[in-house]
Amino acid sequence: METAQLEALATSPAALAAAFVLGALWGSFANVCIYRWPPSPEHPHGQSVVAPGSRCGACGKPVRWYDNVPILAWLWLRGRCRDCGTQFSARYLLVEALTGLLFATVWWFAVDARAALEPLDLRVVRAAIGAAFAWTMVVVIFIDLDHMLILDRLTLPSVAGFYALGVVLPERTWTDGLIGAAVGLALVRVVADLFLLLRGKHGLGMGDGKLLAVVGALLGWKGPVVALFGGAAVAVVVVVPAMLVRGALGRGAGADGAADGEGGDGADGADADAPPPPVPWAERRLALWSLAVVAAAVAAVLLTPLPPWIAALALVALALADDFLGLTDGPEPADARAARGDEPAAAGVDEAHQADDDLAPGALPFGPFLAVTALFWWFAEPYVMFRLGL
Ligand SMILES: [Zn+2]
Repeated sequence: METAQLEALATSPAALAAAFVLGALWGSFANVCIYRWPPSPEHPHGQSVVAPGSRCGACGKPVRWYDNVPILAWLWLRGRCRDCGTQFSARYLLVEALTGLLFATVWWFAVDARAALEPLDLRVVRAAIGAAFAWTMVVVIFIDLDHMLILDRLTLPSVAGFYALGVVLPERTWTDGLIGAAVGLALVRVVADLFLLLRGKHGLGMGDGKLLAVVGALLGWKGPVVALFGGAAVAVVVVVPAMLVRGALGRGAGADGAADGEGGDGADGADADAPPPPVPWAERRLALWSLAVVAAAVAAVLLTPLPPWIAALALVALALADDFLGLTDGPEPADARAARGDEPAAAGVDEAHQADDDLAPGALPFGPFLAVTALFWWFAEPYVMFRLGL
C-alpha cells in the first residue's frame, strides 16, 4: 500500500473502531489480571493469569470461547453464567468498555491529532506506548480499589518497561525517565515521611511511590509532580462531598468523628473499628533518615556539578534496596500498604468487588487518583506545553 493510503486508513473511523476492539480484548485480559494477581488467603502470591482458563467463580465450569467475547458476551448473557446463572459483576463489562474507549482515545490523540507533526510510524509507536500505559493504569486502579494494594509485580517491571519505551521517543533523553522515576519515589517518600513525623500516622504507602516511579519512567519528572498534586486535588474534590454526604446520612463518623463528642461508639456497627493509635515517636523518628537521604540527593543536584541523573540513580537504587533488603525501611512496610493499620482484613480479598467499604473516609485508596491524573497528563502534556510556549 502507498503511504497516502496507509495514512488515510490510520486516520479513518475504522482505525478508531479497531483500536476500541483491541482495547476491549486487552480489557478482558485486564479483568483476569485484576482478579488473579492480588494475594488471597489460598494464593498468597496471587495466581497465574495464563492457566487455567477462565471459569465461573460459582460453579467452576470453564467459560466457552464464544462466551469470552469482550462486552458482547456480557450483554447477551446479561452478565450471568451460562451454566449456573450466577450474576457476574457489571464491573467486568465496565473494565472492557473503559479499556476499549481508552485505546481508541489514545489512538486518536497519537495518530489523528499529530498527523501534521510526525510520520505515521512514530505516531503508531506513540499510540502503542500510550495504550500500554493506559492498560497498566486500569489494572492498578481496579486492584487498588479492591484491595488497597499496588502490586510490586505490576509496578517494578513497569518501571523498567516504560523507561525503555520512553527512550524510544525522540523528545526523551536517556536521563529523563531515570530522573522521573526518582522524582516519583522521592515525592511519595517525602510526603509519607512528613505525614508520619508530624501526624504519627501512615498516609501514603510506597506502593504509591512505585506507581509514580512508573509514571516518571515514561513521562519524565513532570509526570509524578502533576499526578501527585493533581491527584490530591481531585481526591479532595471527591472525598469532601463524600464525607459531607455520609455525615448528612449520620454515617462515617468513625474516621473524623472526634469533634462530634459522641460518647458511646459502636452504636453503628459499620463504624465500630476505631482509628489506629498514633505511631510511637521512636518509630516516627526513623522517617528523618529517609528525609535526610532525599534532602542530600536534592542538595547534591543543586549545589554540586554532579549531573542530576547520578542523584536519581542513587535514589532509585536506595528505594530498590529498601524493597529487597529492608535496609532503611523504617516507617513503612516494604510491600505496598499491606500491613497498614487501616487495611481491610485479608479475609475475602478475592471478592471481585468490595469497594463499598473502601469508600469510608480515611480508607480511600489514593492510587486510582494518581493513576487517573497520570493518564490525563499523558494526553494533556503536549497541549499544556504548547500553551505555555515550551
Ligand atoms: Zn457458573
